[in-house]
Amino acid sequence: MNTIPCVELQSDSADAMNGLIQTTQTTCPYCGVGCGVSATVQQTASGQKVTVTGDREHPANYGRLCIKGSNLADTLGLDTRLLEPMLGRGDLRQNTTWEHVTEHIAAQFQQCIDRYGRESIAFYVSGQLLTEDYYVVNKLVKGYLGTANIDTNSRLCMSSAVAAHKRSFGEDLVPASYTDFEHTDLVVLVGSNTAWCHPVLYQRIMQAKTERDLKVIVIDPRFTATCEQADLHLPILPGQDVTLFNGLLQYLHQQGHHDHAFVSAHTENLDAALVASQTESDITLVAEQTGISLEKLQQFYQLFAATDKVMTLFSMGVNQSSQGVNKANAIINCHLLTGKIGKIGAAPFSMTGQPNAMGGREVGGLANMLAAHLELDQALHQNIVQDFWQSPRIATQAGLKAVDLFQAVESGQIKAIWIMATNPVVSLPDADQVRRALEKCDFVVVSDICQNTDTTAFADVLLPALGWGEKDGTVTNSERRISRQRAFLGAPGQSQADWWAICQVARKMGFSGFDFENAHQIFQEHAALSAYQNSEASQCDPKKAFRYFNLSGLVGISKTDYDQLQPVQWPVLKPLNDLNLQQSERLFTQGQYSHASTKAKFVATSVVAPVHATSTEYPLILNTGRIRDQWHTMTRTGLSAQLTTHRAEPYCEIHPQDALTYGVKEHGLVELQSRWGTCVLRVQLSEGVRRGQIFAPIHWSDQFASDARIGKVVNPVVDAISGEPEFKHTPVMIEPFYTQWQGVLFIRDGMQHLIQAGLKQITWWTTLKMTQVHRYEIAGRNKLEQVLHDLKTFLPFEDASYEWMSLNDASMHMSHHIVLKDGILIASLYIAPIEMLPDRDWVAQLFKRERLSALHRKALLAGMPMSMANHDGPLVCSCFKVGKNKIIETIKTQKITHEKQVTACLKAGGNCGSCLPEIRGLIKQCQQEAEV
Ligand code: SF4
Repeated sequence: MNTIPCVELQSDSADAMNGLIQTTQTTCPYCGVGCGVSATVQQTASGQKVTVTGDREHPANYGRLCIKGSNLADTLGLDTRLLEPMLGRGDLRQNTTWEHVTEHIAAQFQQCIDRYGRESIAFYVSGQLLTEDYYVVNKLVKGYLGTANIDTNSRLCMSSAVAAHKRSFGEDLVPASYTDFEHTDLVVLVGSNTAWCHPVLYQRIMQAKTERDLKVIVIDPRFTATCEQADLHLPILPGQDVTLFNGLLQYLHQQGHHDHAFVSAHTENLDAALVASQTESDITLVAEQTGISLEKLQQFYQLFAATDKVMTLFSMGVNQSSQGVNKANAIINCHLLTGKIGKIGAAPFSMTGQPNAMGGREVGGLANMLAAHLELDQALHQNIVQDFWQSPRIATQAGLKAVDLFQAVESGQIKAIWIMATNPVVSLPDADQVRRALEKCDFVVVSDICQNTDTTAFADVLLPALGWGEKDGTVTNSERRISRQRAFLGAPGQSQADWWAICQVARKMGFSGFDFENAHQIFQEHAALSAYQNSEASQCDPKKAFRYFNLSGLVGISKTDYDQLQPVQWPVLKPLNDLNLQQSERLFTQGQYSHASTKAKFVATSVVAPVHATSTEYPLILNTGRIRDQWHTMTRTGLSAQLTTHRAEPYCEIHPQDALTYGVKEHGLVELQSRWGTCVLRVQLSEGVRRGQIFAPIHWSDQFASDARIGKVVNPVVDAISGEPEFKHTPVMIEPFYTQWQGVLFIRDGMQHLIQAGLKQITWWTTLKMTQVHRYEIAGRNKLEQVLHDLKTFLPFEDASYEWMSLNDASMHMSHHIVLKDGILIASLYIAPIEMLPDRDWVAQLFKRERLSALHRKALLAGMPMSMANHDGPLVCSCFKVGKNKIIETIKTQKITHEKQVTACLKAGGNCGSCLPEIRGLIKQCQQEAEV
């Protein structure tokens, strides 16, 4: 069972409903695994108490949740919420009404169209939107505004897979299901730290590995948590995936591992793929170019060839590249040659990053797609969509993709933009370019749940959106499974569904076709469009528009059935009953693809050098990615004290030898520089990072750190076909970031706003929420005396009711301060050499005490715990709140050799399993220490 976090929400009617408990089945809003969640709301005297557990019936997770999903309830508070529509930038911003603001948007858009034409308007939306929101905004933009200038942040994570699927299969679809992981004999994970980024899928794979002889191979430049239990790790050089899989294609061809019957009956274009990969026919050269040892390469090729049931799972390491589409096609080619597709336990499988990236694809959320898997550049398809919508016009040419779109905003080509549920000033490459673009843009609308993000700062109009738990609709996960995301909380303030806001503006622009009253009506229309002029009988007819994406079985679905909809994979061809919920588990079982020929196509994939190579000025390659406990730009996960401590600061990993070369030290601050920008991060030395490379997470924004938006540094080069940016390959330089002093400041929850103005005086800072306290890591180039003076000015603690205790030792460069009020700890500040700063978790724990004893005060002022026995150390297992020191002590005293023994003793690792790689690391560390 989960240890379940709770949140108290205020409700006017709470007292009247005291004790009432209601459980709702919904879906996690984070990654593309799409786990089912049970949310229980209990009315209490003080408000609503929400608990979240895994939905045991949901086929994506069968009750499992990772640490992010387990702590969803922590993110439901209203502290950071935008609750009213607002008009105006900066100091001019003020509350307004929906009526007025939607009229204003409609008028501004119309004015833009009249003056500058339809292409002067753009929308930038998100894989966080529900399918119903996505459907309506696409309808407005492509069918009524008549432009395709709508792109989504899904462009940044899976558009390369979309393009590859379309080239190989004729349609964007993932042919297999999660159940295939339980039947396969070999899982190849390419460019994916699955253990951290798709944790529940990783657990399913690891569970299967314990039950049967399943081999796991990980292909990744880094040795990540995912590699720990793999049978083989191939530490590939960045950007060499096409070389590796072209080499595999050649190997399979040379060694006679074709499935001849499959290839001749169901594929075409093999010769072109073989010619294009000819240069990779020498395995020795492939080993050299990929940086993988010949022995490991042979092992991988042999295992792939000898195993019938192979699943190749790929993710951001493949997609986020200037060769992303070719990388994905090179993988698919190997499956086609060997017929390892359309069978139980055999398929290439793209893992989507976002909760509804797939739903966005279904409704044509990308600038180069129409709704319902129809093509923007085909007259037949344009006619189908326009005819169905009865819309005044239809977009006929692809719109601007994300990176180009914001460049067009900066150049003035785009005059008005509406951004929904995303934070491009943080997440796009060359992120300062996005900031410049929005600064200059005539009219910026932002719909969000948060009032203050790096992007909302530039909004002329802010629209309060519904958040998770408040909105209602559907999402589709990586295995094509449509699940309901259901509301279990009321709408706070004036917040509204995104589809509703879009409909209001559309109506005010004079458009019919936007009279939807709820998400159910939108879903009905979406299902009907998917089935419109789409029949299996037309699959071979180029004059028809067959597509696998078809929800004909859900056309006309009643409101009751929609509300009760069970998770179901598309295509849904028959009205649903319990028996056919699994009807679409696997596609291509008959070898029928969506190309007019019904055959799959081999794609010629050539190796291309990266656009920006390393140089003396920028000698290292920056690779960016996610960490275990955070999601995107931390607007939600940053609110949970359980999720902030695993990686508390913005950091980068570098190999110890490179650290020596560039003169940077473990835990020191460094400046990372590229042609596009700089940021300042904390160093972590890691043998898991290859020489010549640096890894940095993507999550920190200006709300959480002074200078850690890694997007500023990232190369804006994109894949020529998909437009997906190259987040994994930016030439950079690293150098120490010297400061005169560093320290840590703690301030009690609810008082953190006092420090905001003071932070501007500090050279470098980062913040995180811990239980009942906010922590600020700080460092400065300015004079410490000045900083202390400034902090005292900003904090109202000079008031006589505050007790301010200080301990200064100039010879040791130490300055410690604690502030109490009525015996309660309010703040503490430590300035000292880095190795002498106190243990952060220990200090934070003291803020949980009602009163501090004299001994505690003494210890706190000294910055040293009285006894390590009182201190569990930094949290490793968030589910059961077990710290590092406690685990180490247990490993040593119990002579533990396996993680299961740790779980048996402390429960740690026994729920979501996200911390198991760390527990294994601690066991290894203790064993190594014992050997010395
Ligand atoms: Fe949510 Fe974690 Fe499941 Fe992803 S794996 S959907 S983040 S619970």
